[in-house]
Amino acid sequence: MSMSQDTVIGVVGAGTMGAGIAQVAAAAGHSVLLFDAVEGAAAAGLERSAKGLSRLVERGKMEAEVRDALLARVRPCGELRELAPAGVVIEAIVEQLEAKRELFKQLEALCGPDAILATNTSSISVTSIGAQLGRPQRLVGMHFFNPAPVMRLVEIVSGLETSPAVAEQAFALAEAWGKVAVRARSTPGFIVNRVARPFYAEALRIFEEGGADIATIDAVMRESGGFRMGPFELMDLIGNDINYAVTCSVFDAYNQDPRFRPSLAQLELLNAGRLGRKSGRGWYDYGAGAEQPEPRTAFPTPIPELVGLCGRVEPAATLAAMARAAGIQVEELPGNGYLEMAGVELHLSDGRSATERAAASGHAKTVVYDLAGDYRKAGRIAIAAAAQGPEHEVLPVCGFFQALGKSVSVIDDIPGMIVLRTVAMLANEAGDAVGQRVASPAGVDQAMRFGVNYPKGPLAWADELGLETVVTVLDHLAAHYGEDRYRVSSWLRRRLAAGRACHD
Ligand code: NAD
Repeated sequence: MSMSQDTVIGVVGAGTMGAGIAQVAAAAGHSVLLFDAVEGAAAAGLERSAKGLSRLVERGKMEAEVRDALLARVRPCGELRELAPAGVVIEAIVEQLEAKRELFKQLEALCGPDAILATNTSSISVTSIGAQLGRPQRLVGMHFFNPAPVMRLVEIVSGLETSPAVAEQAFALAEAWGKVAVRARSTPGFIVNRVARPFYAEALRIFEEGGADIATIDAVMRESGGFRMGPFELMDLIGNDINYAVTCSVFDAYNQDPRFRPSLAQLELLNAGRLGRKSGRGWYDYGAGAEQPEPRTAFPTPIPELVGLCGRVEPAATLAAMARAAGIQVEELPGNGYLEMAGVELHLSDGRSATERAAASGHAKTVVYDLAGDYRKAGRIAIAAAAQGPEHEVLPVCGFFQALGKSVSVIDDIPGMIVLRTVAMLANEAGDAVGQRVASPAGVDQAMRFGVNYPKGPLAWADELGLETVVTVLDHLAAHYGEDRYRVSSWLRRRLAAGRACHD
């Protein structure tokens, strides 16, 4: 049964999320009853929405009448019992289990037996919140993202007792509000807060082991990976205290699985009070006039005249086509898909360092390059050279990528580089979530695209790279580090063994 605009929506908690959710529901035409335990907070929440909407009106993006009608549909309430007529109540109060349990007990007594009770919790088990209710089947998670009026994703989270019909109603409601709704089972971090962990964790790890500095990692993730923000910029925006706390909560909730182990470097930053933008300093310094670190970028280098395409395999074939278009002579040679220039073999990283690779092949002059979301669009490429090779073997490779219009970051020779190892670990976590029936492959990919703006869903990205490549990268990382952290998700391995892609 879908819900009409006539359904009154109750929102409890008028802070950052509650006020935004009330605005979303009102924008969709519902009457909204907004309550907050702190006197005046509901009116203040509505006032914040009014200010935000007025900015849209000033920029010509909304009619003043539309704003006024929307705001008129939200009524701040002084008492919780005023929410009795609501057909759906969405809770966005403090993130504490007992507070949420107590609230839902009261709401259950107040609202009709058919009312849907929804929690916007980001980290508490929906099953736990509903455990003491008389009708736990009516409770569902509706996890909005911040800012709620802007971010398109809503995770529809089912606890153990949630009725499938209630979850479907919540799903349909979120979609009717113009959101991308994704079904998830109540497990720690749900989809986004779990699958996104490697985005931060791998960057922190690369930084901790001296693979590259933060500005270079951020630039490579943005300009090569196609992510909107680099991991360190994003940690500073979210707040390192919040980001670290989410990591710790997921780590503990998964029985301290090393995959989620929090970073000591991030903890040390917190010890220094460097929380991020909000404290004026985090990984970066936001003080007036503070100097910003520049990504490591190679100086202009002569372009190699002749490049060998050794095997017509992607992405080498695309790079060779781009080289031809840039006026470089390309010769086709036999091989398994690498490029050759001035005696240097240039391979896409496979999760081994260039040094490990050179040792295995016996070809000392080996350089590896990082994954790009789209080699044609990438503004920067990271490369690393084998320790056995001569010091200047990177030069022809720098000249090659520069001729293709890219900035080049020469990084330390760490296995899996920056984008490749992050994407492989994102796909691994996504695969694990699917394997544990947290969500479907399509659901996970949508969640990551619309909840955190990833350029591609991690599983679609894995399919594009080839599952075998992703599994090989992870196996190489696991062999190098000897850590359980890089173990391949059983789901990915089973898909590969069955000759299936993630999406098929
Ligand atoms: P917030 O601190 O901005 O707002 C919480 C509001 O709830 C406050 O106005 C507070 O007065 C009120 N409140 C507290 N206890 C109450 C009670 N018992 N009854 C009624 N009102 C009460 O917090 P927020 O960032 O909006 O987060 C709210 C919820 O949304 C949390 O569960 C949080 O985990 C979740 N969430 C937050 C974000 C985010 O980025 N901020 C994103 C997704 C989900």
